[in-house]
Amino acid sequence: MEIDEIDAKILLMLQSNGRLSFRDIAKNTGISTPTVSARVKGLEERGVIRGYSADINPQTINETISIVTLQCRPKDLESVSTLLSEQENVREVMVLSGSKISARLVLESEGKLDAFLGWLESLENIDNYDIERAIRTIKKEPDAIITEGIQIVIPCYECRKPIMDNPVTEKMDGRVHYLCCGSCLKLYKDRYQRLKKGASISK
Ligand SMILES: [Zn+2]
Repeated sequence: MEIDEIDAKILLMLQSNGRLSFRDIAKNTGISTPTVSARVKGLEERGVIRGYSADINPQTINETISIVTLQCRPKDLESVSTLLSEQENVREVMVLSGSKISARLVLESEGKLDAFLGWLESLENIDNYDIERAIRTIKKEPDAIITEGIQIVIPCYECRKPIMDNPVTEKMDGRVHYLCCGSCLKLYKDRYQRLKKGASISK
């Protein structure tokens, strides 16, 4: 599936201001309000739009941002990144090439830094780490770059593999469900019906 011109216009507007009404978007793009509403619903259902949230600048409430880069053995990458992700002060974790992990750390006070470093030092499977405090943020844009023609990759609702071609869709209970192929559709529909009857979701 592709992002067409209409989706791209809507996504760009919502990415810059998630509080815009469907009417505002319609007025600014020349797309009709019902179309905007239907497209937004579809983008939400396919998981392209994950949610709407206020973008609060941590530095205006006296919080500091630091970037932690750490190195560990390849076999520990998974467990170390999970441990980091569980820390509330860690706001973003990325596994980098070369068995490195980068984490963005936001701290409410200086005291929190000591606590965090103490915790970090206690981890056994880290070879070394580096922590640098951000002096100021020069640019911060949302991650997704929206352009017309980019592919939307939806995981199949049944097998979870990315749907590369046109999806097989099925409307059930007023919602569109996306599947990669006919056999996944059959399995999914069976499971969906059983689930509705109150049976277990497990396959
Ligand atoms: Zn599938």
